[in-house]
Amino acid sequence: MTLTGGRKCGLLLGLCALSGASGPLLGPVHIVVYDDAALGPELLTTAEKVTGKILLSSGTEATWNAGVLAERSRLTRDASPLIEGHCASPLLPDIVRVQVLAHAPAGRSRQTLGFSLPCSRTGIQITIYADRVEEVSQRMLPGFSRVLGYAMAHELGHVLLRSGGHEDSGLMKGVWSKVDWQRAAFSIIPFTPAQARQMAEQGRNRRVSNWLSYRPARSVDHLAELAGFSPAAQ
Ligand SMILES: [Zn+2]
Repeated sequence: MTLTGGRKCGLLLGLCALSGASGPLLGPVHIVVYDDAALGPELLTTAEKVTGKILLSSGTEATWNAGVLAERSRLTRDASPLIEGHCASPLLPDIVRVQVLAHAPAGRSRQTLGFSLPCSRTGIQITIYADRVEEVSQRMLPGFSRVLGYAMAHELGHVLLRSGGHEDSGLMKGVWSKVDWQRAAFSIIPFTPAQARQMAEQGRNRRVSNWLSYRPARSVDHLAELAGFSPAAQ
């Protein structure tokens, strides 16, 4: 996501994209957030609500959990690259992990709010820089949590769409102008209907994959165990 004269990385979404979407099409997306910038749960929750509204514009529901910082080093990294802008595998990660770092590394463009690894099915898929979010919130209209919410939504868009591509307008615009941020301050910029359909297709891929990987229960008793009750107690 980016800002004209300021940021790169496209984070805008709008509720309009919801048109045509009825109910969660993709299925719930499980998101874990690692607060390495010590933002605190209150601010993060506010940002996550903004992101959640944007995701709902595509009919996608999200669950949010706080990640344990010390666990990040034990995560298996997946360096699957984009091939001509898209992921070779259509399968979504079971969990999308977001880390919010306090500062962007030296040499990173001033316009960059964060980045994503759309094809990674394990490890950290999304990184957001809190100092860049703060800079945008000071220069533009939206507050910090709203900018953060949009930044996460934009990068989640890359992951859920399995693509590094950008659009000329909307949430997945690569470079955001002041006008874009002014719009984001007062409204939800949704995923487009085409993006929502693409996400729904990813959801179908995930359901088919889950079905193909299903292993039958070993016995009736095991089935009962899976169902949450014990036949012996009946
Ligand atoms: Zn982007």
